[in-house]
Amino acid sequence: MEIINPATGVLLTTVAAGSAADIDSAVQKAQRAFEGEWGHSAPRERTAALQTLAAALRDNAEELAQLECANVGKPLGSARGEIGYAARVLDYYAGLASVARGETVGLSGGLGLTLREPLGVCGLIVPWNFPLVITLWKLAPALAMGNTAVIKPAEWTPLTVLRLAELAKGILPEGVLNVVTGTGAEAGAALVAHPGVRKISFTGSTATGRTIMASAAQTVKRVALELGGKSASLVFADADLEKAAGSVMSVFDNTGQDCCARSRYLVEKSVFHDFVERFVENTKKLIVGDPLAGNTDLGPLVAAAHRERVHGFVERAGIKPLIGGTKLDGPGCFYPPTVFTGVTSDSEIAQQEIFGPVVTILLFETEAEAIALANNTLYGLSGSLWTQDAARAMRVARAMRTGALSVNSSSSVHLELPFGGYGQSGLGRELGPQALDAYSEVKSIYWAQ
Ligand code: NAD
Repeated sequence: MEIINPATGVLLTTVAAGSAADIDSAVQKAQRAFEGEWGHSAPRERTAALQTLAAALRDNAEELAQLECANVGKPLGSARGEIGYAARVLDYYAGLASVARGETVGLSGGLGLTLREPLGVCGLIVPWNFPLVITLWKLAPALAMGNTAVIKPAEWTPLTVLRLAELAKGILPEGVLNVVTGTGAEAGAALVAHPGVRKISFTGSTATGRTIMASAAQTVKRVALELGGKSASLVFADADLEKAAGSVMSVFDNTGQDCCARSRYLVEKSVFHDFVERFVENTKKLIVGDPLAGNTDLGPLVAAAHRERVHGFVERAGIKPLIGGTKLDGPGCFYPPTVFTGVTSDSEIAQQEIFGPVVTILLFETEAEAIALANNTLYGLSGSLWTQDAARAMRVARAMRTGALSVNSSSSVHLELPFGGYGQSGLGRELGPQALDAYSEVKSIYWAQ
């Protein structure tokens, strides 16, 4: 498969299109590693291995950042941040690996013990928008619990995950971490169907999530699904308007290719025009261009086919956006930040996940209407609300059907907090200490006196 730099259109390299046989061989290796020393390792040994892997990421951070920048088109500064963050994810679960899990209770005539045991081989299927970070959200807790893994990176963006596997040689025992590149339809589907895999953790689109869930049912695997979003940012009239209208990167970060992108702003009528004016002014200041330039805010979209998809939504909206909405010239897949008003909440552009730099700003008159509009979606992944009224913030936060919220901030994803979706945004949670439970079986033992 050809791997293209989306900023230049230049071929970076080619990687193997893995087959069902390659998946089978990787699962068998992972199974042997699970039955061998890794599956029986002491928590402190796993802590040490994950810490060493984190150090290897840091030692090779610049190379990994350059690779992520070239492969995904991320601004280099963002790519550097992501590599540092990926190492922190490893460190966090390295620490938690050594924290005892399980319980002992006194029962009539004996003791009840609950043990947390690893599942076995876990299949980790990753999208292209945060290739290394999302891999580690899954891999770090899976390994911390003593599982082994087969990773299937996204077709367009396998390079940092392949480099991670090279760095892991000599740090993790043979077979603990396996990577099979390939298509979703072949390698991905084979991983989901494989009877030796005990869990699939998938991040990607809702449509693929449905297919995976149906296939995993055949072998009764555990599935965790982190799917799409159409998250709302609610701006009340009493909000700090400068801050709220300054939050443009909550939708445009990673060129809008972010499952948590606040792609719907809902703004109270009395401040609507003021807000839109400020939001557009702030958006105009964003620099779209070369990911290697120090001041770039938005790199290209990940691939030409994806840019066509994004532009299709804009064209079908049938009205002119306030700014943006045209493909930018040149060999790269650049697309400008695009802001719509004057669309209805039920329109395609306000309902479907576009996964590009496109936002709709809608108007509301009452708190109840704001909540109804925010919840008028199949999804429920993230969201923000902006108000200086603490009682209102509490009411609205509790009424929003979404897995992760931020109040007076855009930042809703934190390593220490569980992250996942309501509705068709998914099943299960990643991050936080709970992620370890998601990679374990519970065994109960009654021990008579
Ligand atoms: P996608 O669903 O097309 O692909 C994701 C991964 O699944 C890829 O590795 C792909 O090869 C694989 N795949 C595709 N078909 C498969 C099949 N039948 N069986 C097994 N594997 C298969 O998604 P994408 O376009 O790469 O990523 C964008 C999507 O990811 C967006 O919808 C976005 O919201 C979502 N996303 C969600 C989160 C989250 O945490 N909720 C985070 C990032 C991205």
